[in-house]
Amino acid sequence: MESKEKTENKPLLDEEQVKYAREIFKGYAEKWKRIGPLFIKAKSEKGIDVKEIQNKILRLKKEKGALILSHNYMLPEIQEIADFIGDSLELAIKAAESPNDLIVFCGVHFMAEGVKVVSPEKIVLLPRLEAGCFMADMINISALRKFKEKYQGLPVVCYINTDAAVKAESDICCTSANAVQIVKSVNSDQVLFIPDRNLGLYVQRFTSQKIIPWDGWCNVHHRFRPEDIQKLREQHPDAVVVVHPECSPEVIDLADHVFSTGGMVRFAKETKHSKIAFATEEGLVERIRRENPEKTILSVGSPKTCVNMKSIRIQDVLTALEEEKYKIDVPEDIIEKARIPLIRMLEISKGRDFVKQIFHRAAL
Ligand code: SF4
Repeated sequence: MESKEKTENKPLLDEEQVKYAREIFKGYAEKWKRIGPLFIKAKSEKGIDVKEIQNKILRLKKEKGALILSHNYMLPEIQEIADFIGDSLELAIKAAESPNDLIVFCGVHFMAEGVKVVSPEKIVLLPRLEAGCFMADMINISALRKFKEKYQGLPVVCYINTDAAVKAESDICCTSANAVQIVKSVNSDQVLFIPDRNLGLYVQRFTSQKIIPWDGWCNVHHRFRPEDIQKLREQHPDAVVVVHPECSPEVIDLADHVFSTGGMVRFAKETKHSKIAFATEEGLVERIRRENPEKTILSVGSPKTCVNMKSIRIQDVLTALEEEKYKIDVPEDIIEKARIPLIRMLEISKGRDFVKQIFHRAAL
């Protein structure tokens, strides 16, 4: 996913669903009151012995036969002790492929649910239950049902950044890497796209189908501004600029490339450019910097962090392993229904054999 071509087909933004989304957003302000102080604490906690905690985690992990998965946006000290670092789908696949029955998932709630949906027989621990996702929290089942009622018969494509219950009400899932391919595979000239408005608008550039996006957004990527890119280009005219498709259309218009998180990691490794600026969460920029020491890796604008991701501290990972908390449970009927849009997506993007391997315990 990287071209920025435009179609004349303008997406529909529905006033009523914009209203629902804003109401949900108000609820999020309440949640922020709880998560904000955790984030501030995580940033300011300097007195702890990180190395010692990391060693304890590694010992305990071995004793318990646990697998530690870290999202790209986690704090560096968590990424350092993880068995795998990746995006939500990559991590769910790693969990399914691994022989370990105990998974410590360092990421946000919908991602841990995703691991449970793919591997319901495993114990999935999320070190902080409050670690949600701003975007995923901007839609819920009742809002989605109203949206579907209004546009009866239209298929729902849901971005992977959704709760299991919302996936269970959707027709097919997508990631930022395969969203265009998945939408094009849907046999309908109109498609409901949830919950990221910017990703929906991005997909709209590549298809003549009419996208009707939900009005959600990512609190990290939506904060990049066109001025950030303009300033970066003045200061570093030799840098190539890469942005995430969750950025606004105005930011995408000014970028050289548009890549998902996995695409950014690969691009940084493979490109001949020696100076690259990224508009994405700072944890990923730090990972790319670590993995490409010979290149100059810059952040577009001021570094932007996801407060939910960063609310998980290295001490929380240790406590999660010691006390085996917090166990993620997803009701069986939701697991069954949420698997369907995931399986449909994987069949299209990776093929049926791959799906059989990953969902080896599922009745296909
Ligand atoms: S970076 Fe954005 S999409 Fe990802 S978890 Fe944070 S708020 Fe959600």
